[in-house]
Amino acid sequence: MAYQIQRGTYDAYGEDALNLQKIEDSFKVFAETYGYTFIKTPTYEQTELFTRSVGESSDIVNKEMFSFIDKGGRNISLRPELTAGVMRAVVSNKLYALDLPLKYYYCGNVFRYERPQQGRYREFTQFGVECIGINNYMSDAETISLGYNALKNIGFPHVILKINTLGDEKTRENYKNALRAYFENKIDDMCPDCKRRFETNVLRILDCKVKEDQEIVKDAPRIQDYLSKEAKEYFDKVLELLDEQSIEYEIDDTLVRGLDYYSQVVFEYHFISKDGTNLGAIGAGGHYDNLLHDVGGPKLSSVGLAFGLERINTLLKEIDPENYQKFGLDLFVIHLGEETRQYSFILTQELRNNFFKAEMCLENKSFSAQLKLALRKNARYALIIGTDEMAKNSYGLKNLTTQEQIEVKYEDLIDTLDEILLTGEFDDEE
Ligand code: AMP
Repeated sequence: MAYQIQRGTYDAYGEDALNLQKIEDSFKVFAETYGYTFIKTPTYEQTELFTRSVGESSDIVNKEMFSFIDKGGRNISLRPELTAGVMRAVVSNKLYALDLPLKYYYCGNVFRYERPQQGRYREFTQFGVECIGINNYMSDAETISLGYNALKNIGFPHVILKINTLGDEKTRENYKNALRAYFENKIDDMCPDCKRRFETNVLRILDCKVKEDQEIVKDAPRIQDYLSKEAKEYFDKVLELLDEQSIEYEIDDTLVRGLDYYSQVVFEYHFISKDGTNLGAIGAGGHYDNLLHDVGGPKLSSVGLAFGLERINTLLKEIDPENYQKFGLDLFVIHLGEETRQYSFILTQELRNNFFKAEMCLENKSFSAQLKLALRKNARYALIIGTDEMAKNSYGLKNLTTQEQIEVKYEDLIDTLDEILLTGEFDDEE
């Protein structure tokens, strides 16, 4: 029986797997330059953690969670995002007693039962950062800059940064009242989700993707008109720090984000490729004031963001297919004749133990068959070993791009490889 892959999931292998790994590595290095350290939390948690934090009014909790009762009768969910788990870990381990802010980065798979389409999976990977225990416009600006610069660093020629403020609690209360008054006599004509949102969290209506509803949303009150003096000043200071770094942004006052815990500044990163591909946000985040408290910790503010690695991978491949990293070997060891096969096997092991990506054909095959294999495996060099070479402990080293060939003695092999793999050239004196 052949088993089918589950809808909305994917297998990554070859170049795709290699590049997903490369993106993750690059984000890690970048986050560490901003003083973040790694945190790993479980893939599943108590369901209530997510209903309390992500919010009962959000689509994620309402429609998209993978929830089940475990053998011990507990109500469990696969994580639909990582922030809630990180907050739970901060509380469980009393990490808030350490020097604040805590700065953690994470990378892991998340699960949302969404309708699969391009750039939208049911299991995908998020890389994110959380700066916990600080209420300062500078840490919001720092987080937004980190995300923007990390995307540029990884190969996005330009990034569209959309930003908005949800204000402080006072702002949101006044604004929600204004929205309720506006939608009150229109809600009967809107989609079932909006009807539910009207009852649970009226702000969510601004996020509705239904065309007819968007027409109604267009004329809804604007949050800008309801910002308290403090919230406006806070937002302006964040924008000023972005201006000073020449980070371009668009203020989008319909941006409310799909998770309930945000307050003050929220943002999204987008990229539209030359052929018009728009996969939606490639990363997003915001400031939150009550989340740690909601999951049982002290009332401390935080700011965080998360990238979707699959969307980033798809776009990077499209932006620069030439540079999209291919898996390649440093060298392929070619043996000529049965007697040299075992000798080559031992030498290949020695090369690998010196951290060269080396491969050989374990069977007896012709020179040309082995050379073809080396090319198919994207080897940069071939090390050619015949019986004469074996007797002299000296081999032919061929650059498979330029076809140049030199002779290298066994005792010089490691140093020579170090040199040429770095410079890509043979030393003239060899
Ligand atoms: P969110 O946690 O909803 O703010 O999403 C953060 C990022 O995760 C988004 O900007 C996307 O890049 C990515 N993302 C969200 N949902 C999906 C999905 N269903 N499939 C793939 N990537 C996703």
